[in-house]
Amino acid sequence: MNKLTIAIDGHSSTGKSTLAKELAAVLGYIYVDSGAMYRAVALEALRKGWVSKEQGIQEENIINALEFLKITFSVNPQGQSITMLNNENVENAIRTMEVSDVVSQVSKLIPVRRRLVALQQKMGEKGGVVIDGRDIGTVVFPKADLKIFMTASDKVRASRRKAELDSKGQNYSINEVLENLKSRDKFDMERIDSPLIAASDARTLDNSKMNKEEQFNLVLGWIHELKD
Ligand code: C5P
Repeated sequence: MNKLTIAIDGHSSTGKSTLAKELAAVLGYIYVDSGAMYRAVALEALRKGWVSKEQGIQEENIINALEFLKITFSVNPQGQSITMLNNENVENAIRTMEVSDVVSQVSKLIPVRRRLVALQQKMGEKGGVVIDGRDIGTVVFPKADLKIFMTASDKVRASRRKAELDSKGQNYSINEVLENLKSRDKFDMERIDSPLIAASDARTLDNSKMNKEEQFNLVLGWIHELKD
């Protein structure tokens, strides 16, 4: 069988990228973090003062800058995927709360989506790819071999995200973290273009009560079903 295309979508902080990375490593596939690409555009817009949580967004400036933004991935010596913006390692800079607070405003812009979707399709054109995001099974790879839609309870998602931020020295209350997750999901689900929604042929994975190993084995079982 040809190498599969695996699309993982879902709500914020449901562990999509953790699962996607593990699958890619075990299968020897490429891993594409589409959220990192939207975050890189949001980081550029923040640095230039074109977006802020309070004052909203200067759409035209962001759209005009798109052609000058080179977003790529490289791999560090530990084998981890690193997001690069115009050849700068921005892997840590894109994961801050400041970026999380504005990224959904940036990702709703249609020209931003068109450009990043085209890049994602190019990265995955040969198959053998695991890609996670919000519109992968619906827009980016509607013919993906396996589509997974991940979700988890608010409490579980917020505590996972808080632990991740704490480990990077970014201290926010659980309520601030939860507020960010919920407002991003609302924004992502309500946007007109490619909203966050499960593809009709996606398998739902609610991991509120599952540990990483159980989840991984479940998904590996789905992959074996497809390959057999
Ligand atoms: O996956 P992550 O949480 O890093 O994504 C950050 C944001 O990027 C999402 O909240 C969403 O606004 C946007 N995004 C998107 N489409 C994707 C991936 C991410 O709109 N395929």
